[in-house]
Amino acid sequence: MRREVAKSNGEGEGAELVFVTHSPEETRAVARRLAAGLAPGDVVSLEGDLGAGKTEFVRGVVELFGLDGERTVTSPTFTIINVYEGTVPIYHIDLYRLEGTYDELENAGVLECVSDGEGISLVEWGERAILELPSNTIRVILIHLGETEREIRVLFPPGKPAPPEEASSPNAQ
Ligand code: ADP
Ligand code: MG
Repeated sequence: MRREVAKSNGEGEGAELVFVTHSPEETRAVARRLAAGLAPGDVVSLEGDLGAGKTEFVRGVVELFGLDGERTVTSPTFTIINVYEGTVPIYHIDLYRLEGTYDELENAGVLECVSDGEGISLVEWGERAILELPSNTIRVILIHLGETEREIRVLFPPGKPAPPEEASSPNAQ
């Protein structure tokens, strides 16, 4: 895992972190680090092609909230929403089969999840609905660089600081 860029918060611009990982475990470690800075009500949009590692990232987040990532997390491709009862409820949402219109998101219960203030929402294919997600959504863009290499670009909304470095410790949990 390598932290490449750490732009600080500029005028009207959010912080950005860029990582390169070389295994699913490293991607989960990045996710755990970012999860340490999440609070109930936060929304994370997970963006990237099939196989980029969005679901793997969700596994890392749930691990920080006390759950077994591999056993707990399954893709909600057909159910659209899975709820995991960690120390904070996690709403795992997958928009793969949706176009992202307001009505669709409302009917599927996605808008309720992202606005109830109680759980953390992790939205795979969130770019499909980015205009309907809260303006303080954190965007995580995963890019397939090679068989086991992924770039993970994290864009924080203006005013939301990146989590501190020590949260990346494998013992952060
Ligand atoms: P998505 O949800 O974006 O479609 P998944 O997380 O389901 O992607 O799948 C990612 C696949 O890529 C898994 O089979 C995983 O083992 C593999 N993989 C290989 N290297 C990495 C890495 N560095 N980060 C995440 N996944 C990786
Ligand atoms: Mg997935």
